Amino acid sequence: MVDQLEQLLTQLETLRTHAVEELSPINTSAELDEWDTRYLGRNRGELKNLSSVMPKLSKEDRPVVGQKINAVKAVLERQLKEKREELKARELMLALERERIDVTLPGRTIPAGRVHPISRAIAEVSNIFLKMGFSVLQGYEVEDDYHNFQALNIPVDHPARDMQDTFWVEPGQILLRTQTSPMQIRTMEQSQPPVRVIVPGKVYRNEDIDATHEAVFHQIEGLLIDEHCTMADLKGCLERFAHEMFGPDRRLRFRSSYFPFTEPSAEVDISCGLCNGKGCRSCKYSGWLEVLGSGMVHPKVLRKVGYDPEKYRGFAFGIGVERIAMLKYDVGEIRLFSGNDLRFLRQL
Ligand SMILES: [Zn+2]
Repeated sequence: MVDQLEQLLTQLETLRTHAVEELSPINTSAELDEWDTRYLGRNRGELKNLSSVMPKLSKEDRPVVGQKINAVKAVLERQLKEKREELKARELMLALERERIDVTLPGRTIPAGRVHPISRAIAEVSNIFLKMGFSVLQGYEVEDDYHNFQALNIPVDHPARDMQDTFWVEPGQILLRTQTSPMQIRTMEQSQPPVRVIVPGKVYRNEDIDATHEAVFHQIEGLLIDEHCTMADLKGCLERFAHEMFGPDRRLRFRSSYFPFTEPSAEVDISCGLCNGKGCRSCKYSGWLEVLGSGMVHPKVLRKVGYDPEKYRGFAFGIGVERIAMLKYDVGEIRLFSGNDLRFLRQL
């Protein structure tokens, strides 16, 4: 019986030594939990296994072994507690290191947005006409055939319709407006002279896209109707616009042209700012750049909306916004405006 007792005490001592040895290299809570289960586990822990022989021991040996078991258990539990605290402290240190805030680092910059060059051009042109007493109106992008063509003196079989290849919503009836001019008709239908409005907005043409043509682009329509209004007023108004927009040195040239809804009609060119009218690559060596179409409102159009052409006269013009933006911001390619390429937009 003495042998059995000594053997048991030796086993307990060995268990203690092994357990303590295995504890020191443990680095994580998971490993520590494993260690806890292996040595101190209630079901199959090694200490529990050795305790299971207790009932077989003699009355004298039992307290000796019991004491030893308790002593080993106390040592292991104390070491476990210390190790747990050590690991916890280390994990906290690591977390603090990881989450450390360096207040000297520069902050994250939020890039500032900016106005798109087309919107900017529309705002600049609008401001100039607002100062001359014009109001700014919005029109409809989906229009009917009557307001887009017929009321503007472009009947169903008129050859001018060939100039405007149309996107039809309902063929012959509803379309995506090919010009901002339908708002001339809608404005005059709804009000009496004097009329002074500009209408910026998108227009649609079923065109092949190239460096100077887009299927969707922007126009600014202008309309003035009053009792006394001549071509001289039209010239003065557009000259004022050109000088405010491009500078006081620029000259305007009126070339006679044809639009169904104005008579007489004129294309308006502005002197090239790069060569000062002498001729260069940018103006195709002509010294002039096309900027808009204009004319005196056709009497037939006035009659359509119930205005008396004997009493009222007026002028109208249509400005291509992309054209203006290309000239003003020196852009050689119309497709850049619709591309939404930030590398381009950030330069303007
Ligand atoms: Zn030039």
